Amino acid sequence: MKPIGPIPPAFANQRGELRIGGFTVSELAEQAGQTPFYAYDLDLATAQVERFRGAIPEAVHLHFAVKANPHPAVIKHFNPITDGLDMASGGELATVRDCGAAMDDVSFAGPGKRDEEIELALTLGATLNLESETEADRALAAAERVGVTPRLAIRVNPDFELKGSGMSMGGGAKPFGIDQDRVPALGRKLLDAGADWRGFHIYSGSQSLDAGAIADCQAASIALAAQLADEIGKAPETVNLGGGFGIPYTANDTPLDVDAVGMTLDDALTSRPDILRDTQFMIELGRWLIGEAGVYVAQILDRKQSKDEIFLVTDGGMHHHLAATGNFGMVMKRNYPVAIASQMGAEPVETASIVGPLCTPLDRLANQIAVPRADIGDFVAVFASGAYGLSASPQNFLSHPNAAEIVVKGGKVTI
Ligand SMILES: *Cc1c(COP(=O)(O)O)cnc(C)c1O
Repeated sequence: MKPIGPIPPAFANQRGELRIGGFTVSELAEQAGQTPFYAYDLDLATAQVERFRGAIPEAVHLHFAVKANPHPAVIKHFNPITDGLDMASGGELATVRDCGAAMDDVSFAGPGKRDEEIELALTLGATLNLESETEADRALAAAERVGVTPRLAIRVNPDFELKGSGMSMGGGAKPFGIDQDRVPALGRKLLDAGADWRGFHIYSGSQSLDAGAIADCQAASIALAAQLADEIGKAPETVNLGGGFGIPYTANDTPLDVDAVGMTLDDALTSRPDILRDTQFMIELGRWLIGEAGVYVAQILDRKQSKDEIFLVTDGGMHHHLAATGNFGMVMKRNYPVAIASQMGAEPVETASIVGPLCTPLDRLANQIAVPRADIGDFVAVFASGAYGLSASPQNFLSHPNAAEIVVKGGKVTI
């Protein structure tokens, strides 16, 4: 038997049939007209925003990183309760525009931006986070073409990285950002060209549960921003300190102590160099805000035994939820928090693996876990599924039906 990850507090102590935002999974399946589906409880997302506000110094803005969950209802939910939205493609930018977000607080990062994407961002008035010097040249040229003063920030590839993060995005040679020693020259060039230089974007990692490592990174980012600003000779309007706040996924993962992050950040901001006195700081988060609010629900289609192992075969799998099967950046396959959703709290009586319908051994939602007796028709829930779920999965692989997405908020269901 292998352990599972910790079920998020909103669901952990439930008994009987799992409820999401007050609705049972069979009610949600009926409304969606199908399984599998993702359900996002947006009241939990609001609670997470409030948790951030309570822990992190008030002066620091909170941005939602849309690539974690680009569902329009999720974007529309975060838009009014956060201070900005961060994009990673022109497609996301178009979605956010259609959601009615104010572009003053929208930024667009990511390597390999197309000319059309750059023009769209500049025309809308979003801030481009520049990933290279050539991209800076292309942005300046695009601004001339469309006749606007471009809002440009420099994404810095710092010499340090976020230690222990699931995915490192800084330190060493990287496709992201401009090496820190080349930033001052670019900053001066942007100012000479008459651009609206916004400041720095320093993003150095994702999925960290280590408050000390995050705090160290933020302090190093503040010091680096001050040093680069000195060299450029101008104070930045904004410094994006990145994010990296993780959530527990697997056994032995413990929640991030955001209060500790907030206290250390408060000290670092209080003693920040003078050149950053009037700078607006922000933190951009995706998975920490929406990850635990999402549940993926599938239904058991078959129960079979092979040798001495039991397999519960569901209608969902890696084509909808690549991350839960351990194939999205996980080095070793470890079990996500999962449960037989029709029998929450029931005593385990056997060990079984939960697999999907794809013809590949990679399609395994849970490996050898303790479960109550489950059979055809029972529901399976995969928790911590609100971020990097459906949009980060190879939905077309094997041409099975798509997953539905359901939003639950204030006792109402929207499909
Ligand atoms: C992916 C990404 C994020 C969001 O990361 P999470 O782990 O979901 O918080 C934020 N900023 C940038 C630049 C990213 O690429």
